Amino acid sequence: MGKFEINILGCGSALPTLRHYPSTQVLNIRDNLFMIDCGEGAQIQFRRMHLKFTRLGHIFLSHLHGDHCFGLIGMISTLSLLGRTGELVIHAHPQAEAVFRPQLDFFCRELPFAVRFEPVVPNRSEVIYEDRSIRVTSLPLIHRVPCSGFLFEEKPGQLHLRGDMVKFYDIPIYRRAEIKAGADYTTPDGQIVPNARLTTPADEPLRYAYCSDTAYNEALIPLIRGVDCLYHEATFGDDAEELARLTCHSTARQAARMARKAAVKQLLLGHFSARYDDEQPLCDEASQEFTPCMLAHEGMKIVLGR
Ligand SMILES: [Zn+2]
Ligand SMILES: [Zn+2]
Repeated sequence: MGKFEINILGCGSALPTLRHYPSTQVLNIRDNLFMIDCGEGAQIQFRRMHLKFTRLGHIFLSHLHGDHCFGLIGMISTLSLLGRTGELVIHAHPQAEAVFRPQLDFFCRELPFAVRFEPVVPNRSEVIYEDRSIRVTSLPLIHRVPCSGFLFEEKPGQLHLRGDMVKFYDIPIYRRAEIKAGADYTTPDGQIVPNARLTTPADEPLRYAYCSDTAYNEALIPLIRGVDCLYHEATFGDDAEELARLTCHSTARQAARMARKAAVKQLLLGHFSARYDDEQPLCDEASQEFTPCMLAHEGMKIVLGR
């Protein structure tokens, strides 16, 4: 299967720091770019990470807090200056269009492309985007305002043809696609060769879950079970557990508990509070509950693979 890459453009939270940009990620899935959240400076980071503006077709906003969406108008304005055409789809809370449309009408009057807002209804999990190769499902998060996470997953791929069998039965090229889709093969003299003899299983679809911003929420576990990578916010450490509860955020330890209970393959922590000069203690606390666990950082690129 094709490329599935997570690019971290920003992993800070609401208060500015000199270490982090606010929340922004870009997934590169088979050279199509999907942005998740769009904090201030997203377009600068986009350029810094050598991502191609022309490959961006969809932006998913988790919620309407500034640290997740203040970069949107700048991003759209830049796409316009670059002469983008076609359509850009913003998947966001149903209120988002009322918030951003007047700004677009004022600052981006003659856009050479259409901006379409696709409402993401909070408090439920449903498929919000689908194409030939991937599916995106919303994840209900618990925050001070309506908030949705996102599960990106590949669709099941095709079976792999065994080269030795292709040779042995001299299978013509025009029959190979149907065998990869599961069909048996009938030889010219009428012998039926079962599919299982000719193929090996398809690759396991890759899955990535983005959960920010959210309080600890065990209802998510069945929705994210076994994902290849879980990004979970870890705004605070053990020192500020009460503050996490009051502000509907999570501690690193809680993020790791989610990872353990959902049996994910790896955990990526982010959305760090400005109160920490060094996030390593957050990683240490999380690692007591679950490994492998990593701290996100700007410029980080994770390639999901098999
Ligand atoms: Zn935030
Ligand atoms: Zn928030």
